[in-house]
Amino acid sequence: MTDLPAADSGADPSDLAAAWLARLEGVNLIDGAVVPAAETLEVLEPAQMRALGRTAASGAAEVEAAVAAAKAAGEAWAETPARDRGRAVQAAARALMAEAEPLARLLARETGKAIRTECRGELAVAADLLEMFGGLGSELKGETLPFRPDTFAVTTREPLGVIAAILPWNVPLVLMMLKIAPALVAGNTVVVKAAEVAPFATLAAAEILNAHLPPGVLNVVVGTGPDCGQPLCDHPDVAKITFTGSEKVGETIHAAAARRLIPVSLELGGKSPMIVCDDVDLDRAIDGAVTGMRFTRAGQSCTAASRLYVHRSVYEPFVAGLRARLDALVIGDPLDEATDVGTIVSPAQKATVERYLSLADAAPEAEVIRCGALPGTGVAPDLFLQPTLILHIDAASPVVREEIFGPVTVIQPWDDWDAVLEQANDTTYGLAASIWTRDLSRALKGTKALNAGFVQVNAGFTIQPNLSYGGFGRSGLGKEASLESMLEHFTRKKTVIMAMD
Ligand code: NAD
Repeated sequence: MTDLPAADSGADPSDLAAAWLARLEGVNLIDGAVVPAAETLEVLEPAQMRALGRTAASGAAEVEAAVAAAKAAGEAWAETPARDRGRAVQAAARALMAEAEPLARLLARETGKAIRTECRGELAVAADLLEMFGGLGSELKGETLPFRPDTFAVTTREPLGVIAAILPWNVPLVLMMLKIAPALVAGNTVVVKAAEVAPFATLAAAEILNAHLPPGVLNVVVGTGPDCGQPLCDHPDVAKITFTGSEKVGETIHAAAARRLIPVSLELGGKSPMIVCDDVDLDRAIDGAVTGMRFTRAGQSCTAASRLYVHRSVYEPFVAGLRARLDALVIGDPLDEATDVGTIVSPAQKATVERYLSLADAAPEAEVIRCGALPGTGVAPDLFLQPTLILHIDAASPVVREEIFGPVTVIQPWDDWDAVLEQANDTTYGLAASIWTRDLSRALKGTKALNAGFVQVNAGFTIQPNLSYGGFGRSGLGKEASLESMLEHFTRKKTVIMAMD
C-alpha cells in the first residue's frame, strides 16, 4: 500500500478514493500481493451510468492460486495465539476507520448508495465487527466433560481450514466482516469472492486488513458466479463455504457443499413483515417503517420490511404519514451530502424491480403510490427509482409473496390479531419481523409466534455486532454476528479422552 497517500495526509477524500480505484483495477489479492488478472470486466458507476473501472474476471486458475495461498498460510496462522490473531484484526479495524472517508466514497460510487445515509455507517459497522470479533480470541474455549473418574475428558476448538466467503453487492463491507472477522480470529484462512458488481471497497478493505496479516491468510478474488464462485465452492481444499446472496444461488452453493460434504452457512433473501397495532405511537412506527424498509438503501436489503400490516384503525393516518415522510426524502447523487436515497445498483436489478411494479400497476385492485421526486441534473437518471407504496393488492400476488429487493413495500390493513400473525407467517422466508405496540403481552406473544430469526418490538435495527443474526426457512442456514456464530460456524470441536493410569 506504499504507493497510496495516507488517509491523514490532508489529501482530498475523492483523490484518495481515486487512488484506491487506480490501485485495485483489474486485480485480485493473492498471497498478500496485488495480482493483475488475465481478463477483466467493467464495473458500472450507477449514478452516472458510466464505467467506474474494470475488475478481475477471474476463473479457475486464479481461484486455484488463492486457495493454494490460503492453504499454505493455514498452519502458521492456526498456530498463532488466538489473542494475537484478534489483536491483528483489531488493528485492522482502526486502520479501516482511518480510511473510512475514501472507502465510503468508493462504496457510494460502485453501489449507488448515498454516502451520508448509508456508506459511512457501513464503514463504521464493518470496523465495529472487526473490533468485536478481534476481542473474542480468548473465547475459543472447550469444555471439561464428566465421564469416568479415571479419565480426563475435554473438548477443544480447532479452525476448519480454508474458508470460502462469497459476498453480494448490497452491503459488501459489513457482510464481508461478518464472515472474515470470526473466521480469521478462529484461526482459519480465507478466500473471499467479492461481488463482481461492486468489488472495489471490498478489495480496499482487504488490502487494509492484509497490512496486519501474514501473506495468504486473507485473499480476495473477483469474477462472475459461474466462472469464479463455482470453482471456489467446488475446490477440494475449501473446508467450509459461507455465502450471502439470493435464494437461487444459495441452492446451488448448498448442493456444491453437499457434494463434498463440507459445512455451509447461507444468508439468503427475505420478505419481512412489520405488524403495526392499534395502540401504537404512530410517528415512531412511521419512522420505523422508513428505517425498517431501508428506503435510504433503495430497499436493497434482505431484512427490508416489505410487508406492512397496519391495524385498520390507524391504517389511513399511517399511510398518509409514511407517504409524507417518503415524499420528503431527497433522491439524488450518492456523493451529495443532501441526498437521502441513491440508485438501484444495476440495470438488471432495476429491471427486476420494475417487473414487480408492472404487476402492481396492472392489478385492478391495487393502488401504487410513488413518493418523492426523481433527481434532475448532475446524475444519469436511468437507475433511480422512487420509494413506492402498494395498497390493496391481492395477498396472493407475487408482489406480496416474493422478494423484490427494491424500494417497494406493500401495506395491508388488519382487524384480527391471530389472523395477522398467520398472514405474517404465510411465507417461505423467515429472516426478520417486527411488531409495533405498547401492549407487553401482545409483544411477547407476537415475538413467540413469528416465524423469523430476527424479531424486534418497536425497533427496526439492521444487523448488529454481538446479536446473532440469521434466517429460518428459505432465508438461510446458520447465524452470523455473534460469538456463537464464530464458535459454531468457524471451528470444529474435538473430544479428547485421557486415561489417568
Ligand atoms: P446473488 O446470489 O446473485 O450473488 C451473490 C454472490 O454469489 C455474488 O458474488 C455472485 O457472483 C455469487 N454467485 C453467483 N452464482 C454463483 C455460483 N454458481 N457459485 C458461487 N457463487 C455464485 O445475490 P446478489 O444479487 O449479489 O445479492 C442480492 C441477494 O442477496 C438478495 O436475494 C438478498 O436478499 C440477499 N442478501 C441476503 C442477506 C442476508 O443476510 N440474509 C444480506 C444481503 C443480501
